[in-house]
Amino acid sequence: MTNTSYDAIVVGGGPSGIAAAWELRDRNILVLEKSGRLGGRLYSVGRGDYWLNLGGHLFPAAGSHMRNILHSIGLDVIRIPGNKFAIYWGGKIYTPGAVAALPLTMKMTMRERISLASIGIRILKAVKGWQKAMQPVYGETNQKRRARVARYMADISFRDFIGYPPRRVEQLFQSAGRRAAAEMEDQHAGVGVSLFGAVWAGKGDSMALNLDGGSGRLGEVMMELLGDQVRYDATVKSIEKTGDGVSVTYESNGGTHTVSASQVIVAIPAYQAAEIVRDIPEDVRTTLRQVQYGPFPTMGIITDETGPMPYDDIYAITTPDASFDMFFNHANPLRTGPRKPGGSLMVYSGGAPAREMLKLTDEAIRDTYLADVYRMFPQLKGHIKETVVQRWVPGNTYRPAGFDFDPMLTYCERNDVDIHFAGDYFAEIGNMEIAAGSAHEAARRARLRLMEQEKSPVQLKVVGASR
Ligand SMILES: Cc1cc2nc3c(=O)[nH]c(=O)nc-3n(C[C@H](O)[C@H](O)[C@H](O)COP(=O)(O)OP(=O)(O)OC[C@H]3O[C@@H](n4cnc5c(N)ncnc54)[C@H](O)[C@@H]3O)c2cc1C
Repeated sequence: MTNTSYDAIVVGGGPSGIAAAWELRDRNILVLEKSGRLGGRLYSVGRGDYWLNLGGHLFPAAGSHMRNILHSIGLDVIRIPGNKFAIYWGGKIYTPGAVAALPLTMKMTMRERISLASIGIRILKAVKGWQKAMQPVYGETNQKRRARVARYMADISFRDFIGYPPRRVEQLFQSAGRRAAAEMEDQHAGVGVSLFGAVWAGKGDSMALNLDGGSGRLGEVMMELLGDQVRYDATVKSIEKTGDGVSVTYESNGGTHTVSASQVIVAIPAYQAAEIVRDIPEDVRTTLRQVQYGPFPTMGIITDETGPMPYDDIYAITTPDASFDMFFNHANPLRTGPRKPGGSLMVYSGGAPAREMLKLTDEAIRDTYLADVYRMFPQLKGHIKETVVQRWVPGNTYRPAGFDFDPMLTYCERNDVDIHFAGDYFAEIGNMEIAAGSAHEAARRARLRLMEQEKSPVQLKVVGASR
């Protein structure tokens, strides 16, 4: 049992924990991370000219919280030139210049074509509504804007919105919807629509960027920069408000330790936070418990071909006809000069098939995925050099129909609390930018509290006690 005191403790070292720690790096802080590295679900490992990608990979546009962090630590993004709307359908890869061209080019019956086009038009209209809801209104707080976006099409499921189209068309939307790690029935319509919105937004460099060297570089560089401000293999078990601060108990190396801080930023998945944070309003705990997460069994693949491959100009393929839902060519951003030998691919599944996949051994997952990879690209036979299966539980976060995030947003507007929350669950579907953005805000609120306490410690204690 040890007892030490900090200005702020950050619980969790994923993108949100990293962003909070970086914002407060001038303070006496401690990051507690249960694994042996920083980065959370952003994860890649270097492999010669390439990197093996296992987690999040699409980075946001210039001016975003994430890009500002990358810039400040000397990391660069690279453009993805390849097609991001490709579809593997009926044994063929379609690479449309625009998603709108899909119903015209794909091989299907007239009934399927009309159904696909009509759902496509409805989604396009809904994406416009979502984009409007996302627009900041002058003078409103981020929490108000998030509340508005959270309510967008939140009362019905994505299934209610799509209806029951012909089976082949349904499979297409099912596969696309599983990027939220959930079935259409389980996510609200706003989640499904925002998935399409994020990919179609496509203006400027939005969602068309990788981190040079792989997304794992963020965690690697932060491990160096934050140094001994981070404690690894430290699993936090409880976070409790004490008279004038917050006490955090964690397990590490078989021992139990308690540290305390004036402020704590909880940057771990919502359902885990709900179980370990003691002193929060019950409606906030209920909200944390209601945030949903689905798994993403993922496989990174390193290849050793010596010549061009049919997917060289493609980055992402939606694969309704495979055991995985998405296929990514992570070497695509690197194919700018003469083609180097080898490459890096990644596949993952979401929703119900992902849950089934997780019941298998790593070897069985590998064999199932590889059989479909070979079916899509027989040229790869004999050229798979390495595979790594990564079981992401949680994989991604999404919201069910009827979900209400207001209690958390109201809590975030309070200026009398010392436990703050951040994470990708602040958006309809998890992504690194909302993780970094919510953490940035949480860190700012923590800093304000610290400054208030430093100005008038006695008065603050009296105010705190009276609430
Ligand atoms: C396969 C895959 C592909 C994705 N693709 C993209 C993409 O292209 N673009 C995008 O923006 N997003 C993508 N994402 C989502 C993105 O990775 C997440 O939104 C982001 O990592 C969330 O950050 P976070 O810090 O909130 O949570 P996490 O990344 O989950 O980090 C939480 C951290 O907290 C630690 N932790 C948990 N419990 C405790 C505890 N009790 N004590 C101490 N530490 C604890 C965990 O070990 C972890 O390091 C993808 C995710 C996956 C899995």
